[in-house]
Amino acid sequence: MADKMWPSAEAAARWTLRREIAPTGTGSGVNPVWLALIAAPIVGSFLGVLVVRLPEGEGVVLGRSRCRSCNNPLGPVDLVPLFGWLLRRGRCRYCGARISLLYPAIEIAAILVVVWAAPVVPGDALWASAILGWTLVALAAIDLRVLILPDALTLPLAAIGLFMVWQMTPEALPSHVVGAGLGWMSFRLLAALYARVRGRAGLGHGDAKLMAAAGAWVGWQALPTVVLFAALAALAAVALSAGVGRRIDATTRIPFGPFLALGLWLTWLYGPLLPGPSALSW
Ligand SMILES: [Zn+2]
Repeated sequence: MADKMWPSAEAAARWTLRREIAPTGTGSGVNPVWLALIAAPIVGSFLGVLVVRLPEGEGVVLGRSRCRSCNNPLGPVDLVPLFGWLLRRGRCRYCGARISLLYPAIEIAAILVVVWAAPVVPGDALWASAILGWTLVALAAIDLRVLILPDALTLPLAAIGLFMVWQMTPEALPSHVVGAGLGWMSFRLLAALYARVRGRAGLGHGDAKLMAAAGAWVGWQALPTVVLFAALAALAAVALSAGVGRRIDATTRIPFGPFLALGLWLTWLYGPLLPGPSALSW
């Protein structure tokens, strides 16, 4: 798999070359991995707010964070990632209401994204990988909570994916544009088929848009790998919850977004399983 770790072999070579000319850490004076690690918990704490407020149509950037229970504004200490939550032992300092574990969990996930990607992708691609990983964390969390994948995240994710490809490997852009279209269409088709056969909706519009974003980031050749990883992860999760005694039947609504997100993340980092005839442009 090592030879297809990155969208194109030439691009990988270009990165290696550039890194040899200007080794990481000498250009700007700061190692990008450290910068990303410092940014991660701050981004994570913003994502926590986003995950809760976005589905409710509340402003994300404007307005101070408030306790969900007593509506008191949170102080500066409460907003310090992880530390603030630990210091208050997960409780609001005014009313003692539990502050959801979701916040520290997402902050930890945001750090994990960087720790996972840093040794796998070339230094120059770390920020692109972090942006992808952080957005996927938010999407997965929202889908788990309220069973939707907001357009406000999936559509920009697709656009950013195409922009990143254009910046990093412009010659691969066409196959990624095709990937976005094909990803969306294949899932709309699948959803229509499913609805016809089962008489109810199974896959949402959000899944199709996340699939479009996947095509934008990894290109059409890698879409089967994304779906395969997602399906395997979903099966494993179903087996696992059956194992712990959760009842799951054909009508149980299972969010597919988190599994698609995982499939996309793995494919982005490690490349597709079968490169196919157009492997050269990967
Ligand atoms: Zn409170």
